[in-house]
Amino acid sequence: MTEKKLPLSDDKLRDIVKTFGTPFHLYDERGIRQNARRLLAAFAGLPDFKEYFAVKAAPNPFLLRALHAEGAGADCSSLPELLLAEMAGLRGHEIVFTSNDTPEEEYRKAMEIGALINLDDLSHLPFLRETAGLPDIISFRYNPGPLRQGNAIIGNPQEAKYGVTKEQLFAGFEQARLWGVKRFGVHTMIISNEINPDYFIDTARMMFELAGELFDTLGIRVEFINLGGGIGIPYRPEEDPVDLEYLGRETERLYAEHITGRGLGSPRVALECGRMMTGPFGWLVTSVRHIKDIYKQYAGLDACMADLMRPALYGAYHHITPLGKTTAPYDRVYDVTGSLCENNDKFAIDRPLPLLERGDILVIHDTGAHGHAMGFNYNGKLRSKELLLEMNGEVKQIRRAETVDDYFATLPECRLNPC
Ligand SMILES: *Cc1c(COP(=O)(O)O)cnc(C)c1O
Repeated sequence: MTEKKLPLSDDKLRDIVKTFGTPFHLYDERGIRQNARRLLAAFAGLPDFKEYFAVKAAPNPFLLRALHAEGAGADCSSLPELLLAEMAGLRGHEIVFTSNDTPEEEYRKAMEIGALINLDDLSHLPFLRETAGLPDIISFRYNPGPLRQGNAIIGNPQEAKYGVTKEQLFAGFEQARLWGVKRFGVHTMIISNEINPDYFIDTARMMFELAGELFDTLGIRVEFINLGGGIGIPYRPEEDPVDLEYLGRETERLYAEHITGRGLGSPRVALECGRMMTGPFGWLVTSVRHIKDIYKQYAGLDACMADLMRPALYGAYHHITPLGKTTAPYDRVYDVTGSLCENNDKFAIDRPLPLLERGDILVIHDTGAHGHAMGFNYNGKLRSKELLLEMNGEVKQIRRAETVDDYFATLPECRLNPC
């Protein structure tokens, strides 16, 4: 069971609503930092363990900075994400660049800032060499294909576009070595939003064995083993979070057996979690705009899928708390909707809730990762603001809401003069 709590009192939240207006995403800096500390402590038995926060989950420099202060690096996959990591004060090997179908200018930027470069395909090795030049340390993303089962978000590895086969990985290492690369790492990311820790333990075993094979075949001792992200969170109250301490202990045990025990040196183990780092510490706070009663009951909000796409995209569950009404009987059933002209724009379908009225404040939980970040402007919808509840209890706006001017900013000058 996971109790769906807020990091502040109802009264404080009402004050914030009064000051800033809904809708907004609110992040809890204390929760984010404590959780990061807990993850690092759980893996502290591994030499030089590093978490590279997957920037795409919550691309805001204030959040990156808070995580960086706790020792996390950044996992970037585009030019703007590299710039964001720089903006937040991250440097060199604190940044991993894992992208796919990568353009030349992104490799150039990654090389310029000295990020660790992780290649998604064998063909990227000559491409990188010709465009940005080769770094002295490189890794490939491994896709085990039919050897492993995936889950819903990424799909089965065999069907996934990411990474290289084992044969290609070995060929890539040999070629890179011929071209003067001296140091190597391996990477994989085959699962997302998984709450069964055994998936990650199996992945660690697979990657540690791969490191052994690389040594046996090519005599290469990798310097890091990046196990990717994908640790899930309990979106539903009846679910439990992943036991990080258990995961850390099991990973350590496997490391002792397959790495230390085989004399493979002391490669750094890394994770690049996004969701579990910020997801549970963000809330979308929104107001009921209209109640509609036709064949079903609808609560129409002032937020829409431009602010949180996961329910529409994956049918994902997000818990909803009606502020100040949690002790009322949950004797109604609502579809909780946004205003997009798209019937998928529903935060919840057939959700038991107490009687709702115009102006009620609803708190949608677990929006701190892959929430605001996934937003878009379809149907002329503008994305909401982001607020940070800081360590000292103050609330800071860390991104303003989009305006109509932002929406038109990419058009040629034709608003006043017809195009
Ligand atoms: C999205 C992504 C992650 C983070 O995934 P989570 O499920 O948020 O932990 C990590 N690595 C890569 C390469 C990704 O694309």
